[in-house]
Amino acid sequence: MSGDVILPGATLGVMGGGQLGRMFVHAAQRMGYFTAVLDPDPASPAGLISHFHIQTDYLDEQGLAQLMQRSAAITTEFENVPAPALVTLGAHRPVAPGAEAVGIAQDRVQEKAHFVRCGLPCAPHAVIESQAQLDSVAADLLPGILKTARLGYDGKGQRRVSTRGELSAAWEALQQVPCILEKLLPLAAECSVIVARGRDGQMVNLPPQLNLHRGGILAVTEVYPGNLPAAVARQAVEAAKAVAEDFDYVGVLCVEFFLLADGSLVVNEVAPRPHNSGHYSLDACDVSQFELQVRSLAGLPLLQPRQHSAAVMLNVLGDAWFLSGDEETAPPWDRLLALPGVQLHLYGKLVPRKGRKMGHVNIVGASMEIARANALQAAALLGIAPF
Ligand code: ADP
Ligand code: MG
Repeated sequence: MSGDVILPGATLGVMGGGQLGRMFVHAAQRMGYFTAVLDPDPASPAGLISHFHIQTDYLDEQGLAQLMQRSAAITTEFENVPAPALVTLGAHRPVAPGAEAVGIAQDRVQEKAHFVRCGLPCAPHAVIESQAQLDSVAADLLPGILKTARLGYDGKGQRRVSTRGELSAAWEALQQVPCILEKLLPLAAECSVIVARGRDGQMVNLPPQLNLHRGGILAVTEVYPGNLPAAVARQAVEAAKAVAEDFDYVGVLCVEFFLLADGSLVVNEVAPRPHNSGHYSLDACDVSQFELQVRSLAGLPLLQPRQHSAAVMLNVLGDAWFLSGDEETAPPWDRLLALPGVQLHLYGKLVPRKGRKMGHVNIVGASMEIARANALQAAALLGIAPF
């Protein structure tokens, strides 16, 4: 079964109906596939545009059975799809990524252990699951960041702590769930690499992304030759491929890195799915990360994507609706779209909230200078501080 190619005309299923699922559905439909989305939310971004939308909980037996009936193969679009659901699906259909890799990526403790196994440097850290572990934390991990082992994203489930007192209080505030305390590293920059791996082990990658986070949320991604020192870019691609290889991964995966002031590269975390930092590929590459997801799921050939334009990606958060105070006002889309090279992607979310990802804008250009100049103007219109 796993060796079969699934051709256009078949139905591809996806667990989760967020924006990543929506862009997977777009890619699949463009290539002539039908799509089925499982997400309990009747207004989920992907559910709204999919041929089939199964509106049940992720562990609902009937929902999973329906998804299997509909779909020739199934993928996931968010990290916290319950691994047992993937095990159930995987018993009957090709599922990519598989439950094991998703399970590891869902848990920062297992994830860190995986990096260590791959021989990749990560931030000095300690596991905190008990009061005794908390009390015996090495002093040189402070100041640090306490992160819940599970269910964190966009900086949620994290507390910065400088003293043992703050650490105790933070663990209490996080309800004493299993956590990791990471040493706060002096970051010179952050970057990420997206890799796609097929069932046959073939691997391709997108060019490394330079990422700027603000308030724990990705704000800006820049991708063009020279965005990172060449040696760092090469090292990041190799490390990302090593992570995928070691998982025996099938599908699209993103590895996030910290670049330290001394030029060394440290692995931060892995996302077992397309990633926000890869959205530029929709408009700047001949194969996007979502097409790579379709191809790897369907067993189609994977070709090394070629970036044809310099790109800057700006996340559009709900904050952009509240630039003039508490009253909700839509951003000036018409003025934004008057800028050359601007591609607007909105996810169909009806309620803008501060910190909520409503969409993104890709600004592409023939050169880095052109893309950046227009991106800075776009940023000003969206209330995004210069970068
Ligand atoms: P999330 O799952 O929310 O993306 P991350 O672990 O990637 O969680 O943390 C979010 C952001 O917080 C990172 O992109 C980085 O900017 C900052 N950060 C996280 N860990 C560290 C660290 N050990 N040192 C310095 N900054 C960090
Ligand atoms: Mg992250």
